[in-house]
Amino acid sequence: MLFTTEKQQMSMKKHFSFALAAVLALALIATLISSPFTADSEEFTQEDAASLDAAREKLEQINERQAELSSSLKKYSNEKNSEVKAKQTLEQQITETESKIETIEWIIDNLEARLEEKNAELEQAQQEYEDYHSKYVSRIRENYEMGTTTYLEVIIMSENFSDMLTRYDYIRDMMDYDNQILVTMCDNIAFIESIRAEIIADYNEQQEMLALLSAEKTSQAAQIVDLKDRIDYISKNIAQLQEEQEEFERLEAEFEKQINELLDKKKKYAGGAFMWPLESKYSRISSGFGWRKLYGKDDFHYAIDIPADKGAPVYAAADGTIIYYGWTNTGGGNKCVIDHGSKLMTHYNHMSAFVPELQKQFKENGSVEVKKGDVIGYVGSTGNSTGNHLDFKILYDGTAYNPALYVTPDGSKPEKDIMDLIN
Ligand SMILES: [Zn+2]
Repeated sequence: MLFTTEKQQMSMKKHFSFALAAVLALALIATLISSPFTADSEEFTQEDAASLDAAREKLEQINERQAELSSSLKKYSNEKNSEVKAKQTLEQQITETESKIETIEWIIDNLEARLEEKNAELEQAQQEYEDYHSKYVSRIRENYEMGTTTYLEVIIMSENFSDMLTRYDYIRDMMDYDNQILVTMCDNIAFIESIRAEIIADYNEQQEMLALLSAEKTSQAAQIVDLKDRIDYISKNIAQLQEEQEEFERLEAEFEKQINELLDKKKKYAGGAFMWPLESKYSRISSGFGWRKLYGKDDFHYAIDIPADKGAPVYAAADGTIIYYGWTNTGGGNKCVIDHGSKLMTHYNHMSAFVPELQKQFKENGSVEVKKGDVIGYVGSTGNSTGNHLDFKILYDGTAYNPALYVTPDGSKPEKDIMDLIN
């Protein structure tokens, strides 16, 4: 193509950018589809952790693209609406133009009829004039040919001078009368011609207006065609984007399913006994699980209290995820809660301090993975506490169980197996 208008170039640019976006979207879809995912073993492996990270990253990419698609769709829909409105306005305008054209065509038809009428009238008037004129001319010629005779006759036949004058006057008057009729006829012809000229001027004016209106109609029709093309193009884009949106919804569901499966697997407690959350030398329980008197009132103690030196390290009883790491107003002071999966949780209360690195990670991610035996804080007496000790609690599915039955300070076999709670 050697010649393109600016509009065409703009439209081509738009086509091009849209095509490019579509190719990029397909490439993205391709990378998303070829995601490795294996969930063969029961245990949550390193490989699973990698798969979970990858799936989360891809879900993020999917959601980003979905946001882009939504905004593109919104943009195109708005554009389409305004183009449809513009088209409707033009269609209304073209209807108005057409009705104006119809009126003018009717006026032109009338003017043509009137012009024909006037032409006929003119022809008739001219014919009558010519007829009268030729008769007049021949009468004069006759009078002239017999001129002398007539003159003599007029004079000789006159009885007297006065009579002669009357006769002579009569001839002259007759000629005047003819002249007058001819002048009237000429006036009539001129009058008809002036009306005819008016009609022609009016006719020309109406034809000019008709030409303008026809040009306007042509331009409006062309604009409507342009708008229709634009609307079709936008509609096609919208359809493509919607198709892509559906594909991404499908991918989103797929990756959410993968993530949930991996998370379910991750949430499963890997097994094994819990460990004593302090150094084994801190083995005494100052307040056991069950009913006790607290400030003179009966109180059910859902934990065990293990006295220890301030600052003694507190250990994670098993692998898990810290899901709470901060101050609590419910009496626990500085509190840590670990989710071990399979609805098993441990609570650690009244700590003097947190581990800064864990605190940092928890603030960033809202959770921190810990291994059995990791230091998760330091013994203290924060919250409702009368001395340095660790308040340690074990929960399964929201119900507290006596930790003394499931953990021993020296790591010897406890009375009960934590796995019995799960199974
Ligand atoms: Zn306690």
